[in-house]
Amino acid sequence: MQIDDYNNAAVFSQFPVYGLNSAEKQAFLQQRLNWLTHHHATHCPEYARLLTCIGEVNSPMCNIEHIDQVPPVAARLFKDYGLKSIKDEEVFRLMRSSGTSGRQSQIYLDADSAKLQSQILVKTLQHWLGKQRRPMLIIDAKETMQNKNGMSARAAGLQGMSFFGRNHCYALDENMQLRIDEVKSFIEQYHNQQIFIFGFTFIVWQQFIQALQSLGLKFNLQQAILIHGGGWKKMQQQAVDDKTFKQQINAQLGDVSVHDYYGMVEQTGTIYMQCEHGHLHCPVWSDVVVRDINSLAQLKNGQQGLLQVNSALPTSYPGHSILTEDLAVIHGEDDCPCGRLGKYFTLHGRVPNSQVRGCSDTFS
Ligand SMILES: [Zn+2]
Repeated sequence: MQIDDYNNAAVFSQFPVYGLNSAEKQAFLQQRLNWLTHHHATHCPEYARLLTCIGEVNSPMCNIEHIDQVPPVAARLFKDYGLKSIKDEEVFRLMRSSGTSGRQSQIYLDADSAKLQSQILVKTLQHWLGKQRRPMLIIDAKETMQNKNGMSARAAGLQGMSFFGRNHCYALDENMQLRIDEVKSFIEQYHNQQIFIFGFTFIVWQQFIQALQSLGLKFNLQQAILIHGGGWKKMQQQAVDDKTFKQQINAQLGDVSVHDYYGMVEQTGTIYMQCEHGHLHCPVWSDVVVRDINSLAQLKNGQQGLLQVNSALPTSYPGHSILTEDLAVIHGEDDCPCGRLGKYFTLHGRVPNSQVRGCSDTFS
């Protein structure tokens, strides 16, 4: 591939989702991430101060030679500060994290960022779902979407995903209880088509699969696909792992391929889908690094540490490189048995009492 301008979203949004090898991806992301670092340092004063704080700003303006070297912003800074690289009047949408444990992240999007995020999300999901919209069973309540205080991450997830389905059926009522008659008639009508099921992991488990189980209801779906996300914390409390989850789904619903995904409101549009071998995959627009919890030194494949997520997408806020509070292990790059290129990894919970070290002091 010979491309001169990797900053052209019209060009890079057309890349095959899992189609660039390590060297090609390095060439693309090095140029794009450097451009984003300069862009945010110029347009977001807090971000410029962060770079100065870690001694990057004069070198010159933090030109990295390898994509692993992009200085990450600690995820919690999006909770403490309204970090944005656009003017107030350009804010098109404000995204908030679900915020079950305290303060919420606030992510500012302009029209271009929102459009690019949704284009990339569409492209990534079409790789898994195909281009045809499928009959869709949503394991949530319609009322979840109606939140007046800005869009929650859950509502944004539901809205984003519902685009990939048709003839939507909400499986739960406003009290998050099973709408059994609606679910039964939906499945009767579409059982031999490729149904798309979507929901958040714990809700799928507790409000749907366990409810079906207690009612003694089983279905015989064919070639259905379930995409679920939202974390395993509550599942681990109930000692349910990925394998148990999949087995129980197949026992209740029939032939369903089950795919977890990982993503965050701070990098909406970038999602890491789980392949048939249980690995979360970086799409071509993203790359990950794992760092030691204390020293923040980069770790090798196979070692567990803090996950850093780099993304080619964010232009309206300095979120192109974020140090998360999630623990992960990178297992390899370009050589997953599923054949998809890029790095692949698994998640291993969150840092306890998360206070990841970083350089937030300069902001106060
Ligand atoms: Zn794979």
